[in-house]
Formats: sequence, C-alpha cells, structure tokens
Amino acid sequence: MIPYGRQTISQDDINAVIEVLKSDYLTQGPAVPEFELAFAKAVTSQYALSVCNATSALHLACIALGVGVDDWVWTSPISFVASANCALYCGAKIDFVDIDPDSFNMCATKLEKKLFYAQLHNLPLPKVVIVVHMAGQPCDMKAISKLAKIYQFCVIEDASHGVGAEYQGVPVGSCAYSDICVFSFHPVKIITTGEGGMLTTNDVNLYNTLSLLRSHGITRSPDQLEASDEGPWYYEQQTLGFNYRMTDIQAALGFSQLSKLQGFVKKRNEIAQSYQSALEHKNIQLPQVSAGNVSSWHLYIVRVEADKHLSIFNGLRDKGILVNLHYIPIYKQPYYQGLGFSKQYCLNAEIYYQQAISLPIYPSLSHRDQMFVVEELARLVGE
Ligand SMILES: *Cc1c(COP(=O)(O)O)cnc(C)c1O
Repeated sequence: MIPYGRQTISQDDINAVIEVLKSDYLTQGPAVPEFELAFAKAVTSQYALSVCNATSALHLACIALGVGVDDWVWTSPISFVASANCALYCGAKIDFVDIDPDSFNMCATKLEKKLFYAQLHNLPLPKVVIVVHMAGQPCDMKAISKLAKIYQFCVIEDASHGVGAEYQGVPVGSCAYSDICVFSFHPVKIITTGEGGMLTTNDVNLYNTLSLLRSHGITRSPDQLEASDEGPWYYEQQTLGFNYRMTDIQAALGFSQLSKLQGFVKKRNEIAQSYQSALEHKNIQLPQVSAGNVSSWHLYIVRVEADKHLSIFNGLRDKGILVNLHYIPIYKQPYYQGLGFSKQYCLNAEIYYQQAISLPIYPSLSHRDQMFVVEELARLVGE
C-alpha cells in the first residue's frame, strides 16, 4: 500500500516525547512556549499561539476578528470543510469565491469581481476572507491584501498545507499580508504533533485575545486583571473561551519536527520535481508553482480527463496506490446544500472536482514506489 501522505517520525522525535512523559508537566509546562517561540521565529511572525488542532485555530481566529451573527465570511470551495465551518460556529454566514484553475487557490480576480458586485448592489460584504494555500502553493496575497484594504475586510490564511512554503520571498505565516495565519499538525500535513494547530499574528491585541480564548477566557496575569487582585488564588474569566490548548507532549513532538521542516520541504520539492519530469509529456495536467513562490507540496494534485477520472482513480487504488481527492467542493456537502447552495455553485471548482487526483507525496516515499505510481498512472491514462 502506498498512502497519499504520511508522517515522518524518527528516534529524536520519540525521545523528545519520552522526556516530557518523564517530566513534571504533561500540559501547560515549558514545551508549549518553547515550540511557539521556535515556530514564530521559523515563519518570521511576531507571535505564535499553539492550539489543539487547526479547526480550533480557525474558530478562535474568527472570534478574535469579531465574526458574529449577521457577519459574512468568504472562503474557497476547494478546501477541507473546517475552512468554512469556523464561520458557522460563530453564527455567521458563509459564501464561496471560485478558484483559479491553475493554482486551485481562491481566484483574486473573481474575489474582486464579487466584492465589486456586492458593493454595487448593496449586498453584504465579508467581514473576513479566509484564503487557503491549497496543496502548499501560496495564494496571491498581495492582490488579496490590496482588496482587504479597499473593501475593509480581515484576512485569515488557512495555511494548514503551507508550513515551510514561501510567498515572494517571505515565509507563509509571516502575516505580512494577513491578520492571522493558521496551521495544522495533523499527521498527513508537513510536520505533525498527532493533533495540533498554530496561529500566527503580528498584532499584540489579537494575540492577547487569542490566548485568552484558548484557555476558557481566563487570565491570571496581574496586568490584565479587570478587578483588584484578591489573593494568590485569584484569576478572572473575562470572556467566554474554550479549552483549545496543546499538551506539552504534542509541543515537544512539534518542536522536534520543526527542526526538520526544511529537510521535509526540500524532499517534497524533489519528489514533485521527479513527478514533473516523469509525467511531463503524458496526457495529464501537472500542478504549477507561481514564479517567486516556494510550495511546501503538501499535496501533488494532477488533473486527468473527466471521462477517465473515475477509472484512473479506481485503477490506481486497485494497485494499492491510495490516491485521494482534495476536495469535494464544500458547498456540495449535504449540510451546505441544506444551507441553500446550488449544486454547481462554482464553475471552476466543479471542473476541478471532475479531474483532480492527489498522488502520493511524503518525505519517506521511495523512488521505486514513486516510479510505480508514474508507470501505473501513465498506463491508465493510455500512453
Ligand atoms: C487539515 C486541514 C484543516 C483542519 O486541520 P485539523 O488540524 O485537522 O483541525 C483545515 N483546513 C485545511 C485546508 C486542512 O487541510
């Protein structure tokens, strides 16, 4: 069996976890801030805050940016459902902006058209736009942040696929063009903590709000108390928060994994390069990385002719190549259909959905296995 993605865990990762297990703190100890500091440094953001997964990170990001009932959040239809669900957790309304067929990311031109149309017709404008760096390929952040200034919305980057990627010379996560950036450390992603997530921002107020929300809305910091300190036991719940914390066990694994990030991304780029040259002249559309960007290659997504899509997909699975499809357009999910979206809401997303196949890509994928994937794919495509 060749999966489409898998974690890379080595002995030093295991040792780091064991060390925490033998220590005084399994959670709320020193490993969490250590991981956060190292992460902020790696992506060149001012602040980084770890959480229990990217879904909770997206939820907190929406709350911190003031998303509530009557607000609109716009995102990409080609993403995991969590990118849209977070708005609904806040009681807000969700809408989708179609993708660019080459990058699979939200199309900045389509976003601009939709914003212009909404303004012209007095329709609601978004409070927050959540862009997704699909497969690890950065979105057109300059264009999106320009629109954010004109139309006064906040930007969340869902960089669940994007740790280690670079946009025009700056690491994804730097928040140079966004308010908050969100990462996932699920085992199929670039680095893992089992379950885990991270938020980065350069705004101290957002950081403080997010920290409060992560832990029940409770603070003990003397400088943040609203009433007077009543004694050494004293703490205040100042807002309705959650328990979305990461454990020290996870953070130690994350810190260890982070030290290998560059190597992982390099290896993924080599595998992508090798697919590129092996599949170049076949009747397959290969993924492209925009000039000036570095992809973290979370996924390697090829597109095949729609009428052969299912047979190629099944053919690969029959050979033990566990290809996948990322993603079913979110608005097609029964739950979203129940919200009233039409079945073919976004045309480019529809075409993409009929063609896309995620091939195996992960650092420990052997050259032999990769060439097996290439051979089988070429055979099924009919060349
Ligand atoms: C994986 C993923 C998430 C959710 O991450 P979890 O850490 O599993 O909560 C959100 N958005 C995208 C684009 C993802 O790929």
